[in-house]
Amino acid sequence: IDANLQATIERFGDREALVDIAGGIRMTYAEFGAEVDRLARAMLARGYAVGERVGIWAPNRAEWTIVQYATARAGLILVNINPAYRTHELEYVLKQAGISLLFAVESFKNSDYRGMVDAVRDHCPDLREVVYFATDSWSALLTNADQIAPDAAAKVSATLQPQDPINIQYTSGTTGFPKGATLSHANILNNGYFVGEVCGYSEEDRICIPVPFYHCFGMVMGNLAATTHGACMVIPAPAFDPAATLAAVQQERCTSLYGVPTMFIAEWALPNFTAYDLSSVRTGIMAGSPCPAEMMKKLITAGIDEVTICYGMTETSPVSTQTRTDDGFEHKVGTVGRVGPHLEIRIADPVTGETLPRGEAGEFCTKGYSVMLGYWNEPDKTAEAIVNGWMRTGDLAIMDPDGYVRITGRIKDMVIRGGENIYPREIEEFLYTHPDVLDAQVVGVPDAKYGEELCAWLRLREGAEPITAESLRAFCTGHLARYKIPKYVKLVEEFPMTVTGKVRKVEMRTASARELG
Ligand code: ATP
Ligand code: MG
Repeated sequence: IDANLQATIERFGDREALVDIAGGIRMTYAEFGAEVDRLARAMLARGYAVGERVGIWAPNRAEWTIVQYATARAGLILVNINPAYRTHELEYVLKQAGISLLFAVESFKNSDYRGMVDAVRDHCPDLREVVYFATDSWSALLTNADQIAPDAAAKVSATLQPQDPINIQYTSGTTGFPKGATLSHANILNNGYFVGEVCGYSEEDRICIPVPFYHCFGMVMGNLAATTHGACMVIPAPAFDPAATLAAVQQERCTSLYGVPTMFIAEWALPNFTAYDLSSVRTGIMAGSPCPAEMMKKLITAGIDEVTICYGMTETSPVSTQTRTDDGFEHKVGTVGRVGPHLEIRIADPVTGETLPRGEAGEFCTKGYSVMLGYWNEPDKTAEAIVNGWMRTGDLAIMDPDGYVRITGRIKDMVIRGGENIYPREIEEFLYTHPDVLDAQVVGVPDAKYGEELCAWLRLREGAEPITAESLRAFCTGHLARYKIPKYVKLVEEFPMTVTGKVRKVEMRTASARELG
């Protein structure tokens, strides 16, 4: 990772690398490289050695990326910690990964991060030092850089190997407790590079990254895709804010815009949406959870017609498939594209593991450079997930004869009603076509007669008439098979979400089961 960054600095030193709007920070690649080297030397001077774990617990800000690349230069394993975590989860990660140095934000959004660190510190014997951004502890750490040779970090960097672990990323925790995916330089550097290739990035591009850095979407598809191409990383705000995101795009003339589907939905729903000038945006990435065709169509209509959909998971660095700019409209809006460069994918029978014929639904499996080294210190979970080199994703997918993939849902989300397999995704897609529906999620609830029935959770547009189970049935009749028509409707203001912006279906299922089951 570092060798690649140094090559970018060499080629594009005077071009902008980073803009942190809330922090008021702008850096060229030369300046960014100097900051990265200084922090890398400071950590080495303080005695942190190759392979040690360095945690980062903070929302998006310029220093996050400096820590990301400084740890890569010094051979330290960066452990991303979700800023939404509280003491219980923080303590778990600090211990599970054996973190010796922690970077954190002092406070954010009325939360006292320093207080939370103090509360768990005594239980974490490995933790030697905590450094808070924008405080004396950060500047004090940096002064250590002067106590070591100017080429100290470069020398360590030269000894690092592509297969060395460099990052532990915890999964989103959508389906259970997060697992720490251990990733190598080769894993994430290649993935960032190829995602950027598919987006056609060059040093001319400016990428607006409102997705969290602690997650692979931000730090790999965002930061690494940018630095491998000499493009600029634009941080609109520490945490997602739809208005701040569009304002950043306009002010910085961004050429690429990222988001999980709910972020794009929130931006396009802003009352003054049309007032923003988004004419600089050529491409972007929607990913992370099922991407509604309706939202993709809106992006394309808005002139962002090179926007791509990516599918993948933390454990695969993350991207496995991506749509391409030259794909036809139907493939662009309705699939997650084709296999990424130098990767293999197959759809397998979830029980026997045998490859299924094209057109049949089964488990999406992938093999190649992107597959993680394993779950950190969890050999049993690793052995379950990676079988003969193939990563089992737990996602259901169908591949068409031309290699385009449709994700039909998570194996765990599939609903079985009266013996029929139902993929909530298909019904959600249809519900999005309802003029009053802003966002829709469908879950199964236990039912004495059919085993399961469907419940549609709906967020409606402002001012819309309430939708009832009856009116929804009328809307669906004739368009969906009877067994796929939701029996129940639940109107909500918000869905339960992970901080990555993913809908927590497990929670919705439990809530619906409690209310209706
Ligand atoms: P956990 O594994 O902890 O339950 P998670 O699987 O949500 O959480 P991530 O690694 O962040 O954690 O997300 C990967 C998952 O996100 C995939 O397995 C898939 O279910 C979903 N996903 C990602 N991109 C897409 C996409 N474009 N379309 C549909 N689903 C997607
Ligand atoms: Mg997962």
